Amino acid sequence: MTTQHIAVIGAGISGLSCATALQHAGYNVELFDKGRGIGGRLSTRRNDLWQCDHGAQYFTARHPEFILQTEQWIQTGVVAIWDPVLQVYQDAQWSKPQTKLHRYVGTPGMSAPARALAQDLSVQTATTIQSIAHNAEGWSLTSTEHGLLPKHYTKIVFAIPPIQVAAILGSHSEKISAVTDSIVMQPCWTVMMQFDSPISMPFDAAFINTGPLSWIARNNSKPSRKGEESWVMHATPAWSELNLECSAQDIGPRMIEEFRILGGPQPATWSAHRWRYASSDPSISIESVWDSATQIGLCGDWLNGGRVEGAWLSGKTLAQKML
Ligand SMILES: Cc1cc2nc3c(=O)[nH]c(=O)nc-3n(C[C@H](O)[C@H](O)[C@H](O)COP(=O)(O)OP(=O)(O)OC[C@H]3O[C@@H](n4cnc5c(N)ncnc54)[C@H](O)[C@@H]3O)c2cc1C
Repeated sequence: MTTQHIAVIGAGISGLSCATALQHAGYNVELFDKGRGIGGRLSTRRNDLWQCDHGAQYFTARHPEFILQTEQWIQTGVVAIWDPVLQVYQDAQWSKPQTKLHRYVGTPGMSAPARALAQDLSVQTATTIQSIAHNAEGWSLTSTEHGLLPKHYTKIVFAIPPIQVAAILGSHSEKISAVTDSIVMQPCWTVMMQFDSPISMPFDAAFINTGPLSWIARNNSKPSRKGEESWVMHATPAWSELNLECSAQDIGPRMIEEFRILGGPQPATWSAHRWRYASSDPSISIESVWDSATQIGLCGDWLNGGRVEGAWLSGKTLAQKML
């Protein structure tokens, strides 16, 4: 059999899981990501003094295959259980959540399991795929940074949010476009706060079900975190959408004020990040899409429930369909 070359666009957890399965099956796989690092929304901001996970906060594992993968990550030290003091805030009342789940985090930061998967793969970062084209030799890709890439590929996998797929795909696959056109991604404003010393709050993490905030967490309460006390806050999709085009300078003080209303002190420093494509609305459960006519595949969290586990399974099921 001639080796088939496959391009995977997006080195988040879905693209990495798809590429891993394809490579195990003997395909020659190359991943491309526009970011400087690997892991997409599994992401940590850090400097010399502090670190803070500002995308996915933790993940859960319910599917037997993902449970197995999580156990392997724990054994190799890139994932650990996080057991925070957890609260729920609703209608001016604090309560304990009813669910007793294992919550897992990457160690020392959320992208650690993604980087572990990438170790055995060929990943080209800082490469924003702009367009694709097809000729007798196969698929070619053009990136913003490098222009036309030298190789041709027999198959292409899109492991990126739907609006970004649509921009690259053009009219190459009606089957894929029909799916990407049906989904809208929602934003999430995030604020990371640093304090000179540990602060006293009655929780390490809280689901906030009233007002602009949806989540607050003490990043240092996660295992293997280094540096000064840091906290992260996420705003709700609705509030983030309403304030999408505001500046980070405007958003920071407004979200910090919400934190102060909930009893938090003023941070020493803070920074804000806008996730334009944080979560999907609606979140569908078709796992992945393979268009055999064009040899183009689609995976990502937004096709499978919208979380880390769903993203990993989406990539894996796409590889199975392609094989
Ligand atoms: C604020 C926030 C909080 C979250 N909290 C949780 C949580 O607590 N638990 C949970 O399970 N999940 C959570 N999630 C969701 C979780 O992060 C995602 O489900 C998962 O990481 C998605 O993986 P993915 O591979 O589908 O996509 P992504 O991680 O988005 O990966 C896509 C990759 O494609 C790259 N890319 C995009 N366009 C291009 C292009 N044109 N060319 C090249 N590369 C491109 C991007 O740089 C990115 O690396 C959260 C997400 C956010 C944003």
